[in-house]
Amino acid sequence: MGVVLISTNLDDEPCGSGGAPENHRGILGTLLRHLHIGGMAEESGEKILDERSIDGIKRYIESGRCKNVIVMAGAGISTAAGIPDFRSPGSGLYDNVTAKYQLPDPQLIFEIGFFRQNPRPFFSLSKELFPEAFDPTLSHHFVKLLHEKGLLLRHYTQNIDGLERKAEVPTEQIVEAHGTFYTSHCIEQTCHTEYSFQWIKEKIMTDEIPICEKCESLVKPDIVFFGEALPMKFFMCAEQDFDQCDLLIIMGTSLVVQPFASLVDRVPPNCPRLLINREKVGYNNAGLIAALLERFGGDEDIDITSLLLNSRGLNFEDKRNRDVALLGDCDEGVLKLAQALGWSEDLMRIREKQLGTQKQQDQAQQPQPTPQQPQSQQPSPSSSSSQL
Ligand SMILES: [Zn+2]
Repeated sequence: MGVVLISTNLDDEPCGSGGAPENHRGILGTLLRHLHIGGMAEESGEKILDERSIDGIKRYIESGRCKNVIVMAGAGISTAAGIPDFRSPGSGLYDNVTAKYQLPDPQLIFEIGFFRQNPRPFFSLSKELFPEAFDPTLSHHFVKLLHEKGLLLRHYTQNIDGLERKAEVPTEQIVEAHGTFYTSHCIEQTCHTEYSFQWIKEKIMTDEIPICEKCESLVKPDIVFFGEALPMKFFMCAEQDFDQCDLLIIMGTSLVVQPFASLVDRVPPNCPRLLINREKVGYNNAGLIAALLERFGGDEDIDITSLLLNSRGLNFEDKRNRDVALLGDCDEGVLKLAQALGWSEDLMRIREKQLGTQKQQDQAQQPQPTPQQPQSQQPSPSSSSSQL
């Protein structure tokens, strides 16, 4: 089925570190120079932004040339909501689950083979991360604002926290590249019955292992596990969106997970790219490809040649002023951009509205205490441990 989800964080560095080792970059850099791939387009041509800065981006947006903005987001847009970057080694949540279930490798939590044998660590983590426990951040509201301004073509997120939905970005404008809790399916391919958000929520919150009502197999939220294909929507949208993009905003991602990271190369060569992140990342995908070649060189699932030909990565030194890095927390970054554009009031209005709506929903739910759920009043160990 083509593409698989691969972490190229080969050295087990924390996700924030970004980039690939210098030697990999060096090897491929040499190769690219010999092949005359990459770098050539950057050396000639007119300036894309009049200045490589937030003001350059502001004037570009105001020029009217910018109509189709794509946002690519990672865990960094949700950290202000209190959601840990749970896939990173060292994050408390991940370590707790790993220790509690004595897992030799934390990645097992997201491996389908292991899940079939022991789904409990995944559901234990899911309970902690469940979307309803968190509120969207200013970065999510900024995406909503882009939509309200008629500028948002699509929001691609690696996050599974569902905060884009909660921020009321229209579902059709969101691509949840690594899946979602909002739908779930029976893992038995011949059955594949779909279950609703409410259904899975009840199971997860009451520590009950979700079992298919038709065939008694496990039911799994549509979160993409290691080795699983990304959702079809990701490929279909990426295919049609990126050629039309005239501003790419990359927020809070270390750009190390493929194929998501390679999307930065799919926009037209004169499309400006704004990175809002704690550090510069993704500025040379060639390094990542060198690492891929070394590790997965013979794997037929990865089209190395096409990655190689298409990968130039971000270049913050490009004389045409194409790529801008706004370093710091995502919320600070979007606020600076909103202020530069005179949009800060709009941004605050969206936030207040969302918070108000949330409060109303919370109040509406309060008068009804625990729903009548005889099975869930006691955390029935017999039924739940049968899957262990
Ligand atoms: Zn089933």
